[in-house]
Amino acid sequence: MSPSQIPVAVLGATGSVGQRFISLLDQHPWFKVVALAASDRSVGQKYSEACRWVLNDPMPDYAREMVVVPATTECVDAKIVFSALHNEIAKDLEPQFAQAGFAVCSNASSYRRGEDVPLLLPEINANHIQLVKTQRKKRGWSGAILTNPNCTSTGLTIALKALDNAFGVKKVFAVSLQALSGAGYPGVSSLDIIDNVIPNIKGEEEKVEWEPRKMLGKYIETLEPPSTAAGTPPGARVELADIKFSVHTNRVAVIDGHTVCASVELSSPADPEAAEAILRAYAAPASARELPSSPRPVIEVRSEADRPQPRLDRLAGKGMTTVVGRVRRDPILDLKFVVLSHNTIRGAAGGSIYNAELLVNEGLL
Ligand code: NAP
Repeated sequence: MSPSQIPVAVLGATGSVGQRFISLLDQHPWFKVVALAASDRSVGQKYSEACRWVLNDPMPDYAREMVVVPATTECVDAKIVFSALHNEIAKDLEPQFAQAGFAVCSNASSYRRGEDVPLLLPEINANHIQLVKTQRKKRGWSGAILTNPNCTSTGLTIALKALDNAFGVKKVFAVSLQALSGAGYPGVSSLDIIDNVIPNIKGEEEKVEWEPRKMLGKYIETLEPPSTAAGTPPGARVELADIKFSVHTNRVAVIDGHTVCASVELSSPADPEAAEAILRAYAAPASARELPSSPRPVIEVRSEADRPQPRLDRLAGKGMTTVVGRVRRDPILDLKFVVLSHNTIRGAAGGSIYNAELLVNEGLL
C-alpha cells in the first residue's frame, strides 16, 4: 500500500488537541482522514457545527462536512487512530481499538507507564518503538498502543537527551510556565488566570518527574527463558534512566507554548559554550530524521538574552522544533537553561503523527 492511502481517524476530534490533528493532517503526504469521532454531544453533527474552532489557521475544508461519529471500533474504519481523549475515556477505549487491530497513537497518560508501551519522542528514542512487538505478543492483539509524553516533558527531555549523550545528566531541577491550551477547551476560567499564575497543575509534576526517565532509559531486549517454545519472539523492556528530578509546574496566561526553566547536574561538567554546541548539533536517529513531521532542526539554540519566548518562538520548525536559550552556569548545579516547546503541536498532535510515521517507516503498522 502506498503511504498516501493510509486511512486514519481522530478520536476527540473537536477538542484542543483534536483540532491540531485536523489541521496538521490536512494534505498529509501519507495519511488520509476518514473518520472524526467525539462524544455524544457532537455525534451526528457536521464537524464544522460540532466544533468551536480555536486555531488561527482556518478549519481545513476536508473536515467541514464530515459527520462526527461515536468513538467505537464499529464506527471507525481506519488503520491508525489518533487519540485526543481524556485519560479516563482513553483507558477504556484505547485497548478496545488495539484489540480490534488499530494502531492507537495516544496523547493520554493512561498507558504511558505500561512496560510494553512505547513512550516516544522519535528524535531521541526511536528504537523504543520496537516495544510494540512485545506488546502484541503479550496482549495477543494485532493493533498497538503508542504514546507521546506529557507536553511539559517533551521539550525538556529532548534538550536533556543531547546533554545526557555528551556529558551525562545526574539531576534536574525544573520550573514550568505552561500555556492555557494545555488545559483543553474551555480549560481554565478567565477569572482564574488573567492577572495570575496558578502554581499547581493536577498530576503534572509527577508526570514530568517520571516520563523523561522512561524516554531517556535504555531499551533492553530480553531473551525468553529456555523453557518457552522455540521460535517465541524475545521480550523487551526499558530500564529507567538513573536521573533525579524535582519539578514545579505552573499555569500562566499564554495561549500556546510551554516554557521550562531547568538546572542540571552533569557527570562531566561542561561550560555553557560546549553545551550550546552540543544542543545545536543534536541530530535525530537515522530512522526518525527524514519523516514528514521530523523537526528541522531538532533543537534551535537562541543566543539572545531574552529568548526563547512563547509568542516569538513556538512556531520554530512548524512547531516541531525545541527551542533552547539562556544556557549558562548554575551556581548550585552545573548548567541552567530555558526550553520552549509548542504544547499542542510537538507536545501533542504533531508528536503523535510523528510516532505514526515512525511506525509506518519501521514496517510495524
Ligand atoms: P479537550 O479540549 O477537553 O477535548 C476532549 C475531546 O474528547 C473532545 O473532542 C470531546 O468531544 C472528546 N470526548 C469527551 N468525552 C468523550 C467520549 N466519552 N467519547 C469520545 N470522545 C469524547 O481536551 P484536550 O486538551 O484536547 O486533551 C485531550 C488529551 O490530550 C488529554 O488526555 C490530554 O491530557 C492530552 N494532552 C493534551 C495536551 C494539550 O496541550 N492540550 C498536550 C498533551 C496531551 P466533545 O467536544 O464532543 O465533548
